[in-house]
Amino acid sequence: MIHEFVHESRPARVVFAPGARNLIDREVTRLGIRRLIVVSTPGQSGLAAAVTAPLGQRVAAVHPHAAMHVPRAIADAAVTQARRVDADGCLAVGGGSAIGLAKALARETGIPIVAVPTTYAGSEMTTVWGVTDGRRKSTGRDDRVLPAVVVYDPELTVAVPPATSVASGFNAIAHSAEALYAPDCSPVTALVAAESVRALAGALPRVVADPEDLDARSEALYGAWLAGVALGATTMSLHHQLCHILGGTFDLPHAETHTAVLPHVLALNLSAAPHARNALQRALDADDPAARLFELAGGLGAEMALKNLGMPETGSAAVGQQVLAAPYHNPVRITETELHHLLGNAFAGLAPHTEPTPR
Ligand code: NAD
Repeated sequence: MIHEFVHESRPARVVFAPGARNLIDREVTRLGIRRLIVVSTPGQSGLAAAVTAPLGQRVAAVHPHAAMHVPRAIADAAVTQARRVDADGCLAVGGGSAIGLAKALARETGIPIVAVPTTYAGSEMTTVWGVTDGRRKSTGRDDRVLPAVVVYDPELTVAVPPATSVASGFNAIAHSAEALYAPDCSPVTALVAAESVRALAGALPRVVADPEDLDARSEALYGAWLAGVALGATTMSLHHQLCHILGGTFDLPHAETHTAVLPHVLALNLSAAPHARNALQRALDADDPAARLFELAGGLGAEMALKNLGMPETGSAAVGQQVLAAPYHNPVRITETELHHLLGNAFAGLAPHTEPTPR
């Protein structure tokens, strides 16, 4: 049965092909950009240089200093550099860190973004920006930060280590899973989200078996694109709230934290979200989506215990208080006891539904 809904499509242009990096020149010309600032993390600066070499003189500045969660000082330095060279466009090569920096730049200067994503984080398909001052991350939505064009080239993802690919892929699956029970999920977004879970869950084992399998890389990147679309179209719930607080409080790795937490939140939420549960059952070909995702991630070598990602044993209480205090949408209102059990299981790396270990 179709209930009342509102669906809004974002005006994003997507170019997807193995070798699509060779079309960046065409896309930059199409946008009329003459003076680009290129941003990446330090680790991806060589890749960014290779990808933008055909642009020649149109690369006016290079800022290879992107870091996780967009530290304010790095964003400010990028803005200063962009203004100094009078940049009229920004090209980001890399994962969510590089694209996050481009968004901060676009928000401040209004210049368009050309995004060339190499992970499955999906930030390139959303209007969400974030900047971090110390441990405090400010986020918001702004149409100006949505890239003018996204160039997906699966060949650029071949070098991403399998462990990083798995965690990033589960980060994307988390976007789609929470989109499926979001209050603003439309029938179109539900199709997109379910298809992304199907594509990623099928592709990730093949990526791990052979990181150079271009078909598997293409399927995973396609799934990540769709997960980004689902993320951009909806409001996230408990899982994203919990990961945001865990990451911010204990400086845990972003995608890995999503991977370890997701099965536990789904075990709780899907009982109250039958549409989402049915869609995930079909997408994963499994009766119990939470158990299936736990087995899949663990089987692919993901770390499923938050204690091994850096969460201290005493951390549950502080996180629990923050989660219960902050307002967020969720299919079920979680109690303090349920949250304590959930965090205990995720801390220890136990399967969802199991009893917590005594402390
Ligand atoms: P990231 O960009 O730091 O990349 C993760 C890892 O992948 C890094 O170790 C990086 O070196 C490696 N990597 C990336 N490209 C590579 C390549 N071509 N070859 C080899 N290794 C490569 O992080 P991420 O997981 O992609 O994104 C997480 C960040 O994005 C977080 O800050 C998160 O808050 C943000 N995010 C924002 C949104 C949004 O809508 N605003 C959505 C999702 C994620």
